[in-house]
Amino acid sequence: MTPSTSGSNSETPTLLRQAINAVAEACRIANAVQKNLEQVRRIAKDDRSPVTVADFAVQAIVHHALALQNPKVKIVGEEHAGQLREPDERPVLEAVVEAVQGYRETLTEEEIIAAIDGCDHDATGEAYWTLDPVDGTKGFLRGQHYAIALARIENGQVTLGVMGCPNLSRKLDHPLDTPDVTGTIFAASLEGGSWILPANEPDAEPDRVRITPAAERGEMVRICESVEAAHSRQSDTERVLESLGVSPDPVRLDSQSKYAVVARGQADAYLRMPTSRSYVEKIWDHAAGMIIAQEAGATVTDITGSPLDFSRGATLEGNRGIICAVPDLHGRLIEAIDQLGLAAGAR
Ligand code: AMP
Ligand code: MG
Repeated sequence: MTPSTSGSNSETPTLLRQAINAVAEACRIANAVQKNLEQVRRIAKDDRSPVTVADFAVQAIVHHALALQNPKVKIVGEEHAGQLREPDERPVLEAVVEAVQGYRETLTEEEIIAAIDGCDHDATGEAYWTLDPVDGTKGFLRGQHYAIALARIENGQVTLGVMGCPNLSRKLDHPLDTPDVTGTIFAASLEGGSWILPANEPDAEPDRVRITPAAERGEMVRICESVEAAHSRQSDTERVLESLGVSPDPVRLDSQSKYAVVARGQADAYLRMPTSRSYVEKIWDHAAGMIIAQEAGATVTDITGSPLDFSRGATLEGNRGIICAVPDLHGRLIEAIDQLGLAAGAR
């Protein structure tokens, strides 16, 4: 069964199912590379190579899977294969080809490179996909959380999103700092709700995902943010929480899985406080996560309270930072940010 897609256009159920299948396959590949981190490192003689291998292999697989259904599919992907063509990168290319051929044995090296490079749409026009093949690369390298994020943007609006979280447990009481390699996939479409599936069984009956409503939460407020201090100013999160009288003890995890954690009621807010005025968020880092959280009942804006604007190409250049929270908390967070002057000059 495909998660509900009421409210979307007639193509949506088919597109959502295609995206779920592509992401499920990508989860398996990324997991396999993550399991063999040391071996890939040795082959490519480079510390960052495992994530590079996974990035390229996932981008190739997702593009290939979507192109089987629509050869003219348009994808704005994070990666470009240029680097892979350099002679020094031969070992990385070979590892990518090996990873992909483990799942698509007939694909040639040239076809794999073409599939990676084909995700070069310019983020203009009526409809396209955006893909972050491995979001949260630092988490991937630490053996922790990362996400495969695929979303569709139509006329500047995110219409569906699928996110594979290969190390996020299906069980809500499983500790977030302990990877569970059975993994989960989240899927949402506009007005169709937000759903969860086991990553290793994408045809299973999906379960609905919802935020924890105020009446069930009590006093405790649970916050999540990036592990990486370079990606979110953690001292600003602390100031906001202090001013709200909330215990400053956020859960830190990598990748867009933070949106999913709020969507499924494991946290009440995800704060992404800008670290610099010049950094502009990318669409592939937020499109899938945002719709999954919104369809589960969360409110998602930037730190000034403005909706995320997906009509400006590959970046969210009209926005700064992210606040994704249960609705009753969202307004209080925006107010606190404003009063502390943290949004001043944000745009
Ligand atoms: P996270 O896993 O939440 O730390 O976010 C990972 C994403 O942060 C990556 O996909 C990058 O695109 C993005 N990123 C890189 N530099 C910055 C920055 N200075 N501020 C915010 N996000 C960043
Ligand atoms: Mg990313």
